Amino acid sequence: MDLYSGKINKLIEELSSLPGIGHKTAGRLAFYIVSQSEASVKRLADSIIDAKQNVKYCKFCCNLTDSEVCPICANEKRDHRTIMVVETVRDLAAYEKTGRYEGVYHVLHGAISPILGIGPNDIRLKELMERLQGDVDEVIIATNSSVEGETTAMYINRLLKPAGIKCSRIASGVPVGGDLENIDEVTLLRALEGRTVL
Ligand code: ZN
Repeated sequence: MDLYSGKINKLIEELSSLPGIGHKTAGRLAFYIVSQSEASVKRLADSIIDAKQNVKYCKFCCNLTDSEVCPICANEKRDHRTIMVVETVRDLAAYEKTGRYEGVYHVLHGAISPILGIGPNDIRLKELMERLQGDVDEVIIATNSSVEGETTAMYINRLLKPAGIKCSRIASGVPVGGDLENIDEVTLLRALEGRTVL
């Protein structure tokens, strides 16, 4: 016998498919949602649909943005000749929070993972290579220090070598397997300053 109504079960099932949300948390969220006013639930639902329909990839760096070009790429004060390559928008946000990086970014939206069947064509590498046709002084590879992150870093370095573009890798200090977004700002800055040329 189902303990809850079919509709509650459906909501719990949908919520528990979100990353980091287990069945128990999904249940708590579902009951919270149905206890709220219809107007506030509608605001939540509308903002999910609005974000999905209207957020775009920046045409330069693949950051998520409401307009064609993200605010970082649109900022003329940034150093557009230094590109930091990160796996996710959250990693970009982690470096932005330090307030000390003045270059621009490239968001791959993933990392190469032979085990999961994610190859170079499944992440935004082609877009990165296109950008490198322009004036670029340095590419800083700031992928995570997981197996996937390291594989991606090596792959990018191999692509860049023939182009003669300076390519560096952020220093360790970022723990192995660690997600950049969970690392404190001091460690992130130290990793950036201590980067090594590949
Ligand atoms: Zn951008």
